[in-house]
Amino acid sequence: MPTVHVKLCTPAPTGPSAPGTTEIRRLTRRHRALVGSGAIVLGVLAGAVSVLTPGMHLVFVWLGPLLGVGLGLSANRLTAWATHTEGTCPACSEALSLPGPGPVWDSAPSMRCPECGATLLIAIPRYAFGDREPGPTTKERAWP
Ligand SMILES: [Zn+2]
Repeated sequence: MPTVHVKLCTPAPTGPSAPGTTEIRRLTRRHRALVGSGAIVLGVLAGAVSVLTPGMHLVFVWLGPLLGVGLGLSANRLTAWATHTEGTCPACSEALSLPGPGPVWDSAPSMRCPECGATLLIAIPRYAFGDREPGPTTKERAWP
């Protein structure tokens, strides 16, 4: 799993930032299509099974497939999975070694500092996702 250099920054437009690293597992289009169609199938199956359960059949018959389609369509925006992040908190200057943040969608993923509770945006550069796949669009101030 490749390790890429990232910037850890606070959500404030003029907030401080600090360097860090994160381990990225890039997801291919085939992965995203598999996850998306799997979510749709599971949603439809959950809706079909809920027909047999009294009380649940009123809501989950339509909610299961709806959630499945929503998750399936949003899986197309999932570009990578970040498993481990290290660096320094820009708010309290403590060294961080955190699992996650997990899924990387179109924007910079966020985490909470366990020491001070500040929200940290993890700006991942576009090169981390290769030339063929679109990477996440990070805030301009977060990654020049
Ligand atoms: Zn902190």
